Amino acid sequence: MKNPLAENIENVRRRIAEAALRAGRRPEEVTLIAVSKTVPPELVKAAYEAGVSDFGENRIQEAGGKIKTLRESGIGQAAERPPVRWHFIGHLQTNKAGAAIGMGFDLIHTVDSERLLDVLEARAAKAGKSQRALIEVKLSEEPSKHGVSPGGVCSLLRAAQGAGHIRLEGLMGMPPYFPEAEKARPYFARLRRLRQEAEAEGFHLPHLSMGMSHDFEVAIEEGATLVRIGTAIFGLNL
Ligand SMILES: *Cc1c(COP(=O)(O)O)cnc(C)c1O
Repeated sequence: MKNPLAENIENVRRRIAEAALRAGRRPEEVTLIAVSKTVPPELVKAAYEAGVSDFGENRIQEAGGKIKTLRESGIGQAAERPPVRWHFIGHLQTNKAGAAIGMGFDLIHTVDSERLLDVLEARAAKAGKSQRALIEVKLSEEPSKHGVSPGGVCSLLRAAQGAGHIRLEGLMGMPPYFPEAEKARPYFARLRRLRQEAEAEGFHLPHLSMGMSHDFEVAIEEGATLVRIGTAIFGLNL
């Protein structure tokens, strides 16, 4: 049977490559994360079989069950493929930090307070793990958005210097929704400049997690290294 997601994934990959080339970047610099929240395990498996290795979940409880089911089904264990990498992209409450560490996310995109950083550090230390993470930055004043204020990025980075088990490797952000993706550009550019400013202070931040189904091409033109794409891969009616 034909893979139901192959065509969507091929289209998204082509658009990623074209956007990268337009910006004078190499397509390999951009990692496609398929956002699999609310998507049943069979379809996650189909995406894996169509070549996707990175998946994003936004709820700890849902992620836990799904990761377990998929690991038991053998996903990510094909010898010729890199292992599946799970990304946590939702708001993380401190009381779920231990569970998040335990699930083995490759990258947690949403560190948004010193308190959360401290709890993650304590849990990672206890588990004997080194956890990669990003700082979520609040790019607009919408009440539904989480993240540290742009002015708080460097102080959170400084706080993390004493955290031996959490490695902050970049910034994540979400512009407000605009039907016209081009309008999101200044928000992506702002996140890129915030990274530059932090790097000028001596922090090493290779990653920018920005861009979703309707605006990822603009995000890539502005420097995204990780794009988080749900609808354009899995469809609208989930
Ligand atoms: C759902 C979600 C996405 C994917 O959104 P689409 O518009 O479906 O591509 C990306 N990032 C976060 C944080 C999300 O919650």
